[in-house]
Amino acid sequence: MLHGNSLFSSEGVKRLGIPELTYDDGPLGVREEVGRFTWGPLNLTTDSATFFPNGSAVAATWNPAMAYKFGVAMGQEALARKKNIMLAPAFNICRTPLCGRTYEYYSEDPFLNAQLAISSVQGIQSQNVAACVKHFAVNNQETWRDSINAVVSERALREIYLPAFKASIEQGHAYTIMSAYNLINGAHCSENDFLLNKILKGEWGFKGLVMSDWGGTHSTVTAAKNGLDLEMGSSGPFEKWYFADPLFEAVKEGKVSEKIIDEKVHRILWVIYHTSLVQHQLPGSINTPAHRKAVYDVAAESIVLLKNQKHMLPLNTSGVKSIAVIGDNATHTFATGGFGAGVKAKYEVTALQGLKNRLGKTIDIRFAQGYKADYKFNYNVQQKEAANKPNPELIGQAVELAKKSDVAILVIGSNRDYESESRDRENLTLPFSEQALVDAVTAANPNTIIVVIGGAPYDLNQIKKSNHTIIWSWFNGSEGGNALADVITGKINPSGKLPFTFPAKLDDSPAHALGTFPGKNLTADYQEGILVGYRWFDTKKIEPLYCFGYGLSYTNFKYSSFKTDRKSYTKGENITTTLQLSNTGKYAGKETVQLYVSKLNSKVEKAKKELKAFKKVAVGSGSAATVALNFKAADLAYFDEGAKKWIVEPGQYKISVGASSRDIRQSTIITID
Ligand code: BGC
Repeated sequence: MLHGNSLFSSEGVKRLGIPELTYDDGPLGVREEVGRFTWGPLNLTTDSATFFPNGSAVAATWNPAMAYKFGVAMGQEALARKKNIMLAPAFNICRTPLCGRTYEYYSEDPFLNAQLAISSVQGIQSQNVAACVKHFAVNNQETWRDSINAVVSERALREIYLPAFKASIEQGHAYTIMSAYNLINGAHCSENDFLLNKILKGEWGFKGLVMSDWGGTHSTVTAAKNGLDLEMGSSGPFEKWYFADPLFEAVKEGKVSEKIIDEKVHRILWVIYHTSLVQHQLPGSINTPAHRKAVYDVAAESIVLLKNQKHMLPLNTSGVKSIAVIGDNATHTFATGGFGAGVKAKYEVTALQGLKNRLGKTIDIRFAQGYKADYKFNYNVQQKEAANKPNPELIGQAVELAKKSDVAILVIGSNRDYESESRDRENLTLPFSEQALVDAVTAANPNTIIVVIGGAPYDLNQIKKSNHTIIWSWFNGSEGGNALADVITGKINPSGKLPFTFPAKLDDSPAHALGTFPGKNLTADYQEGILVGYRWFDTKKIEPLYCFGYGLSYTNFKYSSFKTDRKSYTKGENITTTLQLSNTGKYAGKETVQLYVSKLNSKVEKAKKELKAFKKVAVGSGSAATVALNFKAADLAYFDEGAKKWIVEPGQYKISVGASSRDIRQSTIITID
């Protein structure tokens, strides 16, 4: 019971009626069936599923209700496919924009991360399917991921890297957790006593099971004693694995006590009790109208309007007879690609198809490829160079089409081969010479809308400077193209906000500014400490390209009457704030009000500001809403490494609300006694 018996299962005990446990990836939906002992697909006709928007798309909704819906739909599909454990959600912190799995993860901010993690877990588990939160912890780069030692202060661990895991255990009640491949402060996460025994099982009272990442176990006795419950991996012979015969021997030799084994089995039984023993109570289903609506809603709320030049959007289609849709990403699908989990999508609406679905009856929509996304994640240097050269012929065709069309919609960005597990990106540059295409098409047709699809920050300096209208979209699931078309036409008023900073240049990002990525001698020294993401940019006064929390709407929101219920509080009290949010524009819309806190005259190092609350609110045109945002005085604590405890520093705090981390509209000062 303590180790895998195939790629995605672990053994039960027939004699006792204890069933085998079944596992499956992952964050993008229930992956297609692979062989029990090989990664090759089984090519079944029964294993397609809904393709869910990627993690950073979910985060860009800033809407835990969306994460919950997402989880429920994914849980129902997992159930229909007879899975006990979904290896999702994944939410490591975005420490560097280059991390290959940024698209799978949520955010650079621990609070946003935690709120989404709680809801995703609760959604999945509402269907009697266990969530597996991963990768615990500090799996922030793919370069040397099996052997990189992340040297992190306990304060940064507790304030930045662990909160979403803590919340998903204490509030989301996740049944399972996956240890990360990397080491933290000298010990692999799968045998890290501090992480697994002291914090997870001790402080947080985790009752479920800790599984290793696939092939991420490195010892028998140490891992068994230091908190790992279940070894998972990719290839046999299974009886030779650390937690198979060698563990049996270690018990016989007295190196591991039977009590430790009993405890692990107890944890596994506890997960079975909550999953396979009760799964028959719910029906499970695949790709129902409700699932399609869930992925549409997430996609629609995730799209971020970066720039609306001359109010080109929403597109007034009344006088438009022709639209040129240009760019490989307009017809590309994102359910699969690269290394790692994908989904055999029941269907995936591309950007071109979405635009045709919504406008094709009245407008002549034509497509030109513009560039060729010829890229595989294992390409060598020459192949990569070739992939990034502009293609004059394709650009020429695109320009011709753009010239004779009323409007051009360029759909560029990256794809799932370019952003991939097991490999970090090399730079922030848009791939496939897309800038050359942008320059040529925008020169040919000034009515160009640029849609960038990606899961992580890119260098959009040139596009931003050239005053184009820019929409940011993601690997946005089965309904991605429909959602995008609805944002363009105004059926959906965009409300997505960036879940991470887009730096103006890579070296502005903390890990790169300090030269600690990917590290030296297999060590990544997290010298930036707690100053991750906007905490770094704000504290060091570095202007980003687009800041954390940024995103425009077709309407305008006015913030007024911001106040706290009192002016001073003690450490155990709750702080209630209210404000008036008025929609002063022509369109109904949703705004995410963000509340940031700054300690004035702190005696310890603090970030310039930290997100402590947020709420997404729908307000009709010309209407207003009262928005209440609450947090606890205890949430203002920092982790004191000397005292080994959380301390709320007494004194004055500035409480600010705004539309992004750099668009602060109102502030007030409170005192903590
Ligand atoms: C990934 C995990 C995944 C596992 C099983 C590993 O390579 O890091 O996220 O769940 O494979 O597919």
